[in-house]
Amino acid sequence: MEVTGVHLFSANCTAIDVLFAEGVWVLLANRSSVNFAEGALTSGTVTGFSGPGSKETLPGSPTKSTPYLHVGLRTYTLTGLKPSMNIGLFGGTFDPVHKGHIALARAATERCKLHYVLFVPANIPPHKQQRPLALYAHRFAMVALATTGEKCFVPSLLEAPEEGARGKEKPNYSIDTVRRLKQSLKASDRVFLLIGMDAFAEIAKWHQAEALFKECAFIVAGRPGFSLADVANALPAKLRPRAEVTRPFQKQSACGDLVLPGVTIHLLEDLHQPASATAIREAAAAGKALGRFLDPSVADYIKKAGLYR
Ligand code: ATP
Repeated sequence: MEVTGVHLFSANCTAIDVLFAEGVWVLLANRSSVNFAEGALTSGTVTGFSGPGSKETLPGSPTKSTPYLHVGLRTYTLTGLKPSMNIGLFGGTFDPVHKGHIALARAATERCKLHYVLFVPANIPPHKQQRPLALYAHRFAMVALATTGEKCFVPSLLEAPEEGARGKEKPNYSIDTVRRLKQSLKASDRVFLLIGMDAFAEIAKWHQAEALFKECAFIVAGRPGFSLADVANALPAKLRPRAEVTRPFQKQSACGDLVLPGVTIHLLEDLHQPASATAIREAAAAGKALGRFLDPSVADYIKKAGLYR
């Protein structure tokens, strides 16, 4: 059989298919703890598989817990990524996505060794219903353009409008999105919610905020002027430390990790990215140049689609 392609299912690569010239897909690993080392496989004649999820186990396979693909005389190990994944979930309006968002995702990826960051534009952001937003399709398209250069940044449809629900759509609550995402992950995978300090300051008002802290860790990007005490005081009442505990941290800048019962927050220092979607929309409306705070492809898209005029 001739291998013509390898396909990784889903953003977290929990399933691997090999496509044969005959048009047959063979599942190598489904929801197992193994992943494919990209670029390890070239086309050739498959002589066998071994390991979990494989069609057959060849005698003398190096181990039973690692999947191998035998192509001709060569053996390819279908491993490479970590058994458990750290997945960043970055929700927002992204109207439009800008360099501040990308900087946050990059810093979070590095700090918490994220394998992926899902950029999740909200169809109906719960906290921004006062002003008309650009259409979801436009906001998603801009996210797709801005993330093309980064292999581990994935535009996600987790909060896309539901088919047939036009007019009856509900706000997209992060708690629902995190739970939906976790249904497609292994129990050992870890989810990190990415958020800027200005948004985090309002976190106690979010729908089921307390539950959200139980479901995932947070990565919070600091802004000048926010202290460690501000971060702790922003927590939902039941998770918030007493005032006398946080008072000494009022002068301490928000950095490092904040770990309390039921709360894990990784704090990123100020990213020095003054980009603001509001300012970008205003500049577009005034016909000003948009280049500085945007990926050029997003600036082009805004022009072509006539957004924010
Ligand atoms: P708007 O001006 O329309 O309110 P926004 O960028 O603040 O836009 P979102 O698109 O919802 O709003 O932002 C998504 C997330 O990105 C939020 O958590 C926000 O705090 C964070 N964020 C926004 N701008 C920056 C920036 N320049 N640096 C770091 N984080 C940012």
